[in-house]
Amino acid sequence: MSFAAGRPMLAIPGPSPVPDRVLRAMHRASPDIYEGELVDLNIRVLGDLRRLAGTRHHVAAYIGNGHAAWEAATMNLLAPGDQALVLVTGLFGRGWAEAAEGLGIAVERMEFPDHSAPDPQRLADRLAADREGRIRAVLVCQIDTATSVRADIPAIRAAMGDHPAALAVDAIAALGCEPMRMDDWGVDVLVSASQKGLMVPPGLGFVWFSERVAKGSGAVTPYWNWTPRAQAEQLWQSWGGTPPVQHIHGLAEALTMLLDEETLPAAWARHEGLAAATWAALDAWGQGGEIGALVSDPAARARSVTAVGLPGAERLRAWTARHAGLTLGLGLGAVQPGDALRIAHMGHLTAQAHLGTLATIESAMVALGLPHGTGGTSAAAAEIARRSTAATG
Ligand SMILES: *Cc1c(COP(=O)(O)O)cnc(C)c1O
Repeated sequence: MSFAAGRPMLAIPGPSPVPDRVLRAMHRASPDIYEGELVDLNIRVLGDLRRLAGTRHHVAAYIGNGHAAWEAATMNLLAPGDQALVLVTGLFGRGWAEAAEGLGIAVERMEFPDHSAPDPQRLADRLAADREGRIRAVLVCQIDTATSVRADIPAIRAAMGDHPAALAVDAIAALGCEPMRMDDWGVDVLVSASQKGLMVPPGLGFVWFSERVAKGSGAVTPYWNWTPRAQAEQLWQSWGGTPPVQHIHGLAEALTMLLDEETLPAAWARHEGLAAATWAALDAWGQGGEIGALVSDPAARARSVTAVGLPGAERLRAWTARHAGLTLGLGLGAVQPGDALRIAHMGHLTAQAHLGTLATIESAMVALGLPHGTGGTSAAAAEIARRSTAATG
């Protein structure tokens, strides 16, 4: 029999669950786009986006997904022939490198294999060897969503020392879930999108940029140029044409929830707790077996998604969808395809819903006869209980 009737649960790392409040805010006819409420709301949203990233500098918004924001960031920052060093920790870093190559950038990849975080020393050594300062930018994913590896952005910035390269960070799977303090950390370019930690349907991409790189590469096409968007005086200029009316309303609602109601420190602590509960479950299930988080160093693990090695993962994903209404993330780029999956814990997610996800995974392992240690669900529940007494949130 099936237990899949009821509200389905999407635990994939994007798109993440959208709050009903955000959906309701979007459900409206288009208003006057020349003056009035929408114009004011857009100004507020752009200010909130800067607060979200921790910057007093610039933000350009685009109708597009993360791939669009990658291209926008790259061609504003770099011109064809410029050198970029991409720190690769998984499929998404590789994807950004390919996007840059497609724009004519001379890309060098520094690979960090086996689900390990970028090593700041290797970066420092490479930049020290670049005596003429030919590397114009270092590109890195704060979270690579495929491997769930987390990069330590302040350590990477520190490793860059006096080298003149700009630091560009993809925070698509991190913003709203993990700390980001763009100005304090010395990040020059930050990329994100609406559908992960920001709890809004897919369709918006964002690029923040510092004063140091604001002049741009000079090689950008008019539509993607960040300058008129960041300095817009009219609503249409900030979107390069007709504004995405309904998305602006949804984003305004989501940013109110995140910045003004929950607050960022509390949201970061909640994601940390949901991640820790996930790892506690995995540790118990993995006793004496092969189940476990693919990133072994807890400091290098994302707080928004966990890539899991689990023999029989593809059968397990099919079981949770069919019998329990739970969709888990596909394993991407894992050592054994079919024996990995990803558990998302990003965005609009209560402990109640996430403990349900973990308990459902345990049900699936029992039903399918997949070997696992006992006590995973209780270990996750105990982790939430322990953290609930802490001060933050
Ligand atoms: C999801 C994601 C992307 C791609 O975003 P799309 O909206 O699917 O184009 C890029 N980088 C990271 C780190 C992501 O998590």
